[in-house]
Amino acid sequence: MAVKQLIEAPLVVVTNREPYVDEHSESGIRTIQKAGGVVSALDPLLQETGGQWIAWGSGSADIEVSPGGKREVPPEHPCYTLHRIVLNPEEVQGYYAKYSNQGLWPLSHMLIERAQFSRRAWQVYRNVNQKFAKRVNSVSPEGAWIFSHDYQLSLLPALVRKSRPDVAIVHFWHIPWPPLTIFRLCPQHQEILRGLLGADVLGFQSQLDVDNFLNAIERMLKLPVDHNTGIITVGDRKVRVKAFPISIDFEAIQKLLNMPRIQRWVRGIRRHIDYRNQILGISVDRADYTKGLLARLDAIKEFYSLYPQYLKRVTYVQVVVPSRTEVAEYRRFYERVSQKTQELNQLFGTSSWSPIITLPHSIDRPRLMGLFRAADFAVVSSLVDGMNLVAKEFVAAQIDKQGVLLLSETTGAANELENEAFPINPLDPEGFANTLHAALTVSVEERAARIAAMRMHLKQNTIYDWMEDIFLTLKMAAQSYV
Ligand code: UDP
Repeated sequence: MAVKQLIEAPLVVVTNREPYVDEHSESGIRTIQKAGGVVSALDPLLQETGGQWIAWGSGSADIEVSPGGKREVPPEHPCYTLHRIVLNPEEVQGYYAKYSNQGLWPLSHMLIERAQFSRRAWQVYRNVNQKFAKRVNSVSPEGAWIFSHDYQLSLLPALVRKSRPDVAIVHFWHIPWPPLTIFRLCPQHQEILRGLLGADVLGFQSQLDVDNFLNAIERMLKLPVDHNTGIITVGDRKVRVKAFPISIDFEAIQKLLNMPRIQRWVRGIRRHIDYRNQILGISVDRADYTKGLLARLDAIKEFYSLYPQYLKRVTYVQVVVPSRTEVAEYRRFYERVSQKTQELNQLFGTSSWSPIITLPHSIDRPRLMGLFRAADFAVVSSLVDGMNLVAKEFVAAQIDKQGVLLLSETTGAANELENEAFPINPLDPEGFANTLHAALTVSVEERAARIAAMRMHLKQNTIYDWMEDIFLTLKMAAQSYV
């Protein structure tokens, strides 16, 4: 892995979720390796370089198998140390369910009416950040590189900086950073900004997020900001703020698609679809209100009303993965999606055809990529999304280049794919329906050309390029600021 060459100091990764979870099961304790985005990129890196990973130990058997809060992973051939932070139920509620997911998450996605903050939850959030920081401080070797993540750990960089001036810190914010007027609604906005400024490098998904963040620093903390270089001066320190759009492992997806069982799966799906003269559409989301699931159902209703020629012609599969079920609002949201889907199926469905087929559970990666390859179209309709990796994965899996992507303009992915994807506004059901019709009627040549251009971009901008860019920036920061 080329990234490995860049790593010049012991690595310490800090995330809310852990890369390996130990769960009790009927057959004993099972270790589950978490797939997806950051974990699947950083786990192989740490396996090569060794190091430490600190995360909340959320599995039911996590504590049991981690004497002293430590577990060597991967279990079958240990290469690095996973440190598990134990949280009690009050901490899980205050830090995770409330402050992070009912406060910062909706606010950052600009859904201000959903955002709820409480001072009690804030206290817990702060204490848990301190707990993480204490562990980072105690396990990090001299001069370590700390790579911390996301909105659950916004206070960590400053807490670590305070007692460990020797380490270099990069913090990546995975979700959008909202404009000033919205961010100031967070009652603790000052503390959060100051917490993040403990890092040497702060990463965001897009330049727009960077600009919003720099504006917040300038206006709320009155610190000097250089908008051209993204450098903030904090006393005698500099903090470099930069956009690093996260991406996918393009080659790994090609490998999954080459597995004989996945090739058979794709052929089976296509045979089923072609035999019935159907068009296969797909969408894959966590059941999260930011993903625009309800608005998409409105658009589908519009689509069949405006273009009844598609009735009984489209097999549309929506994968809706239950998410954050600890939060009551998420459970209610899931119910609403199910109910609205049912209404639509009753309105347009026949005894042999349903407008929407719901898969209410997650699908393993190989088969998911197979589904992406087999599909004629994919819809990503997030209201607001930091990036949206599903959009990129669909494109990477389209090796036959016959599919089209409908992509919400308000996703980070649209910054990179907007010229070749079909842009949709998730809140414009008629426009959405028209675009879907337009996308389904473009020529085979145009589909292939659009997918080929997007694939080229993704092949050249993978998750490894993302890591490389981040570590290179941290290396430069660590060198120039000492
Ligand atoms: N995913 C998966 N199986 C599923 C649904 C989703 O492996 O059944 C993966 C998907 O392939 C993607 C990730 O979960 O890598 C979702 O990332 P995205 O950025 O689209 O949204 P997020 O859930 O992080 O907001």
